Amino acid sequence: MNQIHHFLNGSIVEGRSERYAPVFNPATGEQSSQVALATADETREAVRLAHDSFPAWSKVSPLKRARILFKFKTLVEAHIDELAAMISREHGKVFSDAKGEVTRGLEVVEFACGIPHLQKGEHSMNVGTGVDSYSMMQPLGVCAGISPFNFPAMVPMWMFPIALACGNTFIMKPSEKDPSAPLRLAELLKEAGLPDGAFNVVNGDKESVDVLLTDERVQAVSFVGSTPIAEYIYATASAHGKRVQALGGAKNHMVIMPDADLDQAVDALMGAAYGSAGERCMAISVAVPVGEETAERLREKLIARLETLRVGPGLVDGPDNDMGPLVTKEHLEKVKGYIATGVEEGAELVVDGRDTTIEGASDGYFVGGSLFDHVKPGMRIHAEEIFGPVLAITRATSFDDAVAMINDHEFGNGTAIFTRDGDAARQFCEQIQVGMVGVNVPIPVPMAFHSFGGWKRSLFGPLHMHGPDGVRFNTRMKTITQRWPSGIREETNHFTMPTL
Ligand code: NAD
Repeated sequence: MNQIHHFLNGSIVEGRSERYAPVFNPATGEQSSQVALATADETREAVRLAHDSFPAWSKVSPLKRARILFKFKTLVEAHIDELAAMISREHGKVFSDAKGEVTRGLEVVEFACGIPHLQKGEHSMNVGTGVDSYSMMQPLGVCAGISPFNFPAMVPMWMFPIALACGNTFIMKPSEKDPSAPLRLAELLKEAGLPDGAFNVVNGDKESVDVLLTDERVQAVSFVGSTPIAEYIYATASAHGKRVQALGGAKNHMVIMPDADLDQAVDALMGAAYGSAGERCMAISVAVPVGEETAERLREKLIARLETLRVGPGLVDGPDNDMGPLVTKEHLEKVKGYIATGVEEGAELVVDGRDTTIEGASDGYFVGGSLFDHVKPGMRIHAEEIFGPVLAITRATSFDDAVAMINDHEFGNGTAIFTRDGDAARQFCEQIQVGMVGVNVPIPVPMAFHSFGGWKRSLFGPLHMHGPDGVRFNTRMKTITQRWPSGIREETNHFTMPTL
């Protein structure tokens, strides 16, 4: 059995706990590896290493830190196929989608390469007579990141490149479901020239996470995962005096106005709802057509398109499938359970993906694309995050009805509107209580130089991830106000020819 361990002080280190979690290949249902789960002591050792390497790393000039990250970027590019295959084997997503995830992570590395500019601070001359003021953005110390299964490379790369660029040291605790890619990234960081101890990977579960939330040497915690765990992370780490950004779950609605180009909207919905088998925090899981006629036309077009959805393994010879399996058997059962709940609640199951079988992969964790119509607010399949390829149509009577439905929802990660009407789009952007909004763009994930984050119970903490907020989160501001009383300028003039 392949063993997956930790990365400490620049090398792979065997776990000592004798506790392991199984890692599966979701396309076949076979266990491919087991990952060591660190003890509290092993995690404290990672904290010690990061703590000890902070003084030296924080004094490396921002330009040199940027050059190491630049080298890392070229190494990740050179190994992108290897990383994507690794992700596909443990997560299940199709190869091209896994490559896309690495590319989106690389964009944050590219942003972090600009750190000499980003970390400059501000300067004002003569804030008073003969008084100047300037600010420094200094690193915090040891930072920690805890990531979810659905983006095993991209979400860690939302976190550590900016933290390291700012002069912090870092401990990554990846998801135990697909831990290989972050370990490979750690090796590439070392190859790029990062000093040993500045970046460590601890594989584990609650036992190691709790050390990162409570150890006084850890200054900041970034978390991405489900809302109940995000709340726990935020409460515990904040109570221990740390900076926290904890991104949680989602239920993202896409409004389709009567004037929208329906073919474009359906194209967008297919990718946004079923891509990566719906296991994306920015997936669209609720389509909100405005008006009965829009709803009927949308439903017919979606049914037709679902017949052509190609479901199968993530790694195939030849063209990629449209979507792969779910991550684990438990998750598969959970998603099928939600489909059953929707039927019991009285929603109309228009396309049922539960009986999908894939030739040659009958033990894989596959569920086909599913579609519900007549889903109503208040039903569990509207209120809760399913995190699978299940799209709900929730009909709205008007624009205001659609906006109210979205604003009443507990989550506020992403949303979109499809329309040809600039006024409707503008009103939507202004009124909607959601952190990331798309106008004729179904998955409005901000680019690396903007910040990523939701509202309401999709984010706990004031700062979003990467972009300008990422730099603020990873630095501490110090503002200096200085006045120099009259100096020695006049008395220094010793070398001029003495005259009368
Ligand atoms: P999860 O909350 O189960 O796990 C996330 C991380 O927390 C993992 O590293 C896990 O080991 C750790 N963890 C789990 N239970 C814990 C506990 N009791 N104490 C301490 N740590 C614990 O999430 P997941 O299933 O891996 O990921 C899917 C979830 O992540 C979905 O809800 C999805 O919406 C969310 N997500 C959100 C965003 C976002 O940007 N808002 C992005 C990606 C994923």
